Amino acid sequence: MTDWKTRTKLVHSGTRRSQYGEMSEAIFLTQGFVYESAEQAEARFIESGPDEFIYARYGNPTVRMFEERIAAIEGTEDAFATASGMAAVNGALTSLLKAGDHVVAARALFGSCLYVLEILGRFGVEVTLVDGTDLDQWRGAVRDGTKAVFLESVSNPTLEVIDVRGVCEIAHAKGALVIVDNVFATPTFSRAVALGADIVVYSATKHIDGSGRCLGGVVCGSRTYIRKVLEPYLKHTGAALSPFNAWVLLKGMETLDLRVRQQAASALTIAEALVGHDKLTKVIFPGLKSHPNYAIAMDQMGAGGTVVTMEIKGGQAGAFRFLNALEIIKISNNLGDAKSIVTHPATTTHQRLTPEKRAELGITPGMVRLSLGLEDSDDLLNDVNQALDAV
Ligand SMILES: *Cc1c(COP(=O)(O)O)cnc(C)c1O
Repeated sequence: MTDWKTRTKLVHSGTRRSQYGEMSEAIFLTQGFVYESAEQAEARFIESGPDEFIYARYGNPTVRMFEERIAAIEGTEDAFATASGMAAVNGALTSLLKAGDHVVAARALFGSCLYVLEILGRFGVEVTLVDGTDLDQWRGAVRDGTKAVFLESVSNPTLEVIDVRGVCEIAHAKGALVIVDNVFATPTFSRAVALGADIVVYSATKHIDGSGRCLGGVVCGSRTYIRKVLEPYLKHTGAALSPFNAWVLLKGMETLDLRVRQQAASALTIAEALVGHDKLTKVIFPGLKSHPNYAIAMDQMGAGGTVVTMEIKGGQAGAFRFLNALEIIKISNNLGDAKSIVTHPATTTHQRLTPEKRAELGITPGMVRLSLGLEDSDDLLNDVNQALDAV
């Protein structure tokens, strides 16, 4: 199975068939499992085999199919699915850490990820934040005994690309585990494990679902970490993925590679067409040669991703005029959907931060984030251009 290419794995890996030989994966919408005897129940609580289940908070056949499929494409020994991306981030960190431990994280993080780090601080974990693109800052912050390092491989919404290999070398030299939130890189362009990451986390809500239907998340890692560290924490704290949502995500994975490659092609087309536009002060896309991290993006993703960020002239007023003039592209705050989505980070996803904090992260009042969907890229470019005319 390991020699299969990604697209084959996305369709077939992890599939379990019942005695009926169903073609499409079954939804095992069950909380519990019936034992043939008291002895069998006892044995399963001591140690359950790969096809033996106890309770859906611990595991479920449909959820297991999803976990095995994502582990197969990510290249990790195992994976554990969660009810949302944030349950995955929280589980990956909290299961590992205790009071007195030290964590280093990139400061350009999704707001909820920053919140999880704040909670860890409340429980006595020491957190140091660094500029993720500056390896010297990582070198200065990671010390003997640092337990873990956490980063988003491509930052939201400023699309800085972190040198995952460089950070892994620094962290591993001090014995720290590297946890990568890889949502913006997508599973299609992820080489996180090959670059040295120990644990890879996804919000499956984004590209893996890809049609804006359900929340989901997953943590991928070694069998020892997943089964001995993460699973005990997650199965007792209750962030289990619903079997129905696992089924939706499994079906999403069948088309993941095709969709993400198309979205990335549209993102590149649109970014290239907008460079130098007189209503824009900046077009940020890691697939443009002008992007400061272009070489790292090509090395660790081979593409620029599916999101383009730009800065509209006229600050927030200009950005709002642009958003309100769009016809095809919808105003929302998600990404990775088949429908193209535009977001004004300063007033939505990053509203909680102070203006100074936003400035430090490079989130300006005129900044808008565009997640490219599956519409025709000519139509998308026309929509962006007519909305820019209205600015
Ligand atoms: C969306 C997102 C999350 C959280 O995922 P949910 O499924 O919404 O809980 C975490 N990290 C990043 C980078 C995200 O974009």
